[in-house]
Amino acid sequence: MTKKIPTYFQPIDPRIMDDPDIAAVGAMGEFLYIRALLLIRRNRSYGRIPKRSLGDFGDGIPNARKHAQSLVEVGLWIDEGSYWLVRNWDKWNMTQAEVDQRSEQRREAGRLGGHNSKHSSENPSTRCALCWKQGWNGSVS
Ligand SMILES: [Zn+2]
Repeated sequence: MTKKIPTYFQPIDPRIMDDPDIAAVGAMGEFLYIRALLLIRRNRSYGRIPKRSLGDFGDGIPNARKHAQSLVEVGLWIDEGSYWLVRNWDKWNMTQAEVDQRSEQRREAGRLGGHNSKHSSENPSTRCALCWKQGWNGSVS
């Protein structure tokens, strides 16, 4: 699987201006596109840009709606009705399912770490599933 950047920060390809689709939408279209990427990252909306938020993230960009339409026409954004979806978002970014899975793995690792460092057969915790699994709290019957 492709390594994905899981952090709060939004990576932007340093060659973005070489993309012919970006070139086709012009500087203001490119700026709107980048603003949308930042909005997506901030809101953790997994590539989705609510159309109703155009007034916020497009603030200060003349004719923002026209540039949004240009982004759709070149295929950088996909019109999904109430929102736009960034093309290939899931290819480069973690999906919600992947983020949820990673969170569960981290929780599990935390539980295991706590169990390994604090619990033993002489000092089990009745609130620890792993201590119960070890049989340290007696048998579950
Ligand atoms: Zn334990």
